[in-house]
Amino acid sequence: MVEKNGVVLVLSGPSGAGKSSLINKISDAIGDYYFSISTTTRPIREGEVQDVHYHFATKEEFEKDIENDNFLEYASVHGNYYGTSIKPVKKALADGKLVIFDIDVQGNMAIKNRLGDITTSVFVTPPSLSELQRRLKNRSTDSQEVINRRVKMAIREIQRVSEFDYFIVNDDLETAASVLKKVAITARLKIPHDRINTFVQGWEEI
Ligand code: 5GP
Repeated sequence: MVEKNGVVLVLSGPSGAGKSSLINKISDAIGDYYFSISTTTRPIREGEVQDVHYHFATKEEFEKDIENDNFLEYASVHGNYYGTSIKPVKKALADGKLVIFDIDVQGNMAIKNRLGDITTSVFVTPPSLSELQRRLKNRSTDSQEVINRRVKMAIREIQRVSEFDYFIVNDDLETAASVLKKVAITARLKIPHDRINTFVQGWEEI
């Protein structure tokens, strides 16, 4: 009865929580997935590659995309725009993939409103604020001013943790990855409401 359908896994949490490391760690174990590459107006960081880590765009280009309704969701984070383009997500869902988003808490809410029936959300955090500060400093890709902004943002974001289905403390990478793997595999079991309704109709008629 269940045809192929794509599902969504939202990962949120402060920069420095280790979301990218976690995804890398579980990528071989979660089947066919599509990692959504966001568009942003923030400056490119050392080591980042255009169209791999983000589609880096100017404010004007981004605002044009907003006007043309090209985003599934977008938000202003740390004073820069970040957004998810609709087209590639639609295609990945139609192909039956697990679509993974690394987006902020505002994005999670927007996705929940639009694709709630097929979405599983996870908030990832380091064990403490001081550990987050240490990780951001060690990464040394950001200025002190940027680090301070990210820390302030993290304090605000963690207040919204109850909006998520799961909460993972990334203290030990192996342990956190093992939990996330189970969540990602379970996320695939979600069935869109319209499919369920069609099934119920057929079930009553037989
Ligand atoms: P960073 O600048 O460290 O790459 O990301 C900053 C924040 O923006 C992170 O919390 C990240 O999850 C969020 N973010 C990245 N892409 C998107 C997006 O497309 N939409 C939303 N709402 N947030 C995003």
